[in-house]
Amino acid sequence: MPLWTYRGLKGGIKTAPWPIAALTTIPGLPEPTVESCPPGCEQCAKSCPTSAITVDQQLTLDQGACVGCNLCIEVCPSSVLVAPPRLARAVENRDDLRRRGGVEPGQPRLHPKGDARRLRKSLFVRHVDAGSCNGCESEIGALDNIYYNLHRFGIFFTPSPRFADVLLVTGPVTNPMYEPLLATYEAMPKPNYVVATGVCAISGGTNGGGDHARQGLHGLLPVDLWVPGCPPHPAVIIDALLGLMGRER
Ligand code: SF4
Ligand code: SF4
Repeated sequence: MPLWTYRGLKGGIKTAPWPIAALTTIPGLPEPTVESCPPGCEQCAKSCPTSAITVDQQLTLDQGACVGCNLCIEVCPSSVLVAPPRLARAVENRDDLRRRGGVEPGQPRLHPKGDARRLRKSLFVRHVDAGSCNGCESEIGALDNIYYNLHRFGIFFTPSPRFADVLLVTGPVTNPMYEPLLATYEAMPKPNYVVATGVCAISGGTNGGGDHARQGLHGLLPVDLWVPGCPPHPAVIIDALLGLMGRER
């Protein structure tokens, strides 16, 4: 028996069970609590590099723009912002990423479009990097490793949009990637899904805007799921894709 086979058998199963503990144990993006801000204090909004926080009657933190730097938590004098031990999960409604104290986020779609049974056992994903920094790609690449083992769910990446059910987009959509992205979407059989993955694809993040790029997919494509994070944790991406399949997350 080859040595690597022997070591593999001796090591046992390395794939993480699902649901994976990371979803509820790793500190996620900051969230507002029900605590009130001191009058006139806007320290968090001033410190935020992506203008993800607005303070008027109530503090709103847009997790679709938050890169998770935690500067806002550090400067807050009143513990209004915390990073709870749960990863921010994908939502169907973009507005559900705009978090306010005491309001729970929405849940992704659990009923696929068209024939609900069609996607329950397998899902094919076409990934398009529309100008990402490659942080998101690093996490997407981890999906195929032995630990996350995406294939066990019947989810596969495909190089051809003709065979894809899902268009998974990363990056803010740079000008050179605008036409290829739309062409990929048009080439997919319908009904299909669009998943905006990472802050850049949601709102432009730190890389969008200006003369060279759009600010994410809003207004470009009909997005079905918004996956927060910079980059999103692999478990959050799996969780989102399972939601599209109508399977237990
Ligand atoms: S953690 Fe998010 S909301 Fe807070 S300062 Fe950083 S980017 Fe802004
Ligand atoms: S969301 Fe963050 S990790 Fe992903 S492409 Fe944008 S800057 Fe990079």
